[in-house]
Amino acid sequence: CGIVGILGKQAVAGQVVEALRRLEYRGYDSAGVATLEGGRLSRRRAEGKLKNLEVRLSNEPLDGLIGIGHTRWATHGKPTESNAHPHATEKLAVVHNGIIENFRELKAELEADGHVFASETDTEVIAHLVTRELDRGKDPIAAVGASLPHLRGAFALAFLFEGQEDLLIGARKGSPLAVGIGDGEMYLGSDALALAPFTNLIAYLDEGDWVVLNRKGATFYDADGSQVERRAQRVAAGA
Ligand code: GLU
Repeated sequence: CGIVGILGKQAVAGQVVEALRRLEYRGYDSAGVATLEGGRLSRRRAEGKLKNLEVRLSNEPLDGLIGIGHTRWATHGKPTESNAHPHATEKLAVVHNGIIENFRELKAELEADGHVFASETDTEVIAHLVTRELDRGKDPIAAVGASLPHLRGAFALAFLFEGQEDLLIGARKGSPLAVGIGDGEMYLGSDALALAPFTNLIAYLDEGDWVVLNRKGATFYDADGSQVERRAQRVAAGA
């Protein structure tokens, strides 16, 4: 129900949780964080309140200068740790707000292709769809661009890729997503409020947009895959 992504200069797991806390007002039943530690994806997830995730993180800290996080309001699959986001394959991790309406068809197709699923969620098909495109030789940007048109329903998404220390990809269709611009740091969040501790320079994705972030900036694409301009604005503190 809440999404965060951070491309930072220091270990980001604590900041990801801080931003998730600012999205608690939306309600949630579980939470999770993924970062890249030396290029390798690592995840921590927990049922219940963010406090439980924080306990998990203090027992098993996550390093990494890039990360994504999520608070989940379950729509498909029980509110368990294995259904908590981020969902991952060996190549990427993804967090999702919303519902993928055609996930059953996609899941059947991917399972027939040999993909093995670890959760009951609609979200996990997104991880496997993009992984299939990577397996076919596409780079992460092309793989996301090729996958999004297959998804029906509503989503805000943030992707983190194994071995890609300077890349986050976000997407928006029917569920809001904001890009925060920092000083050599970049952010994704469900709203500007989540990012207020870090930056007030915010650009919103339009309906159907997706965005490629690195520490130097953001490149926006519309639903047709054409590059588009989305202007950043200063938002009022706390807004
Ligand atoms: N449909 C997804 C799930 O049930 C995402 C729910 C949400 O927006 O938190 O896992």
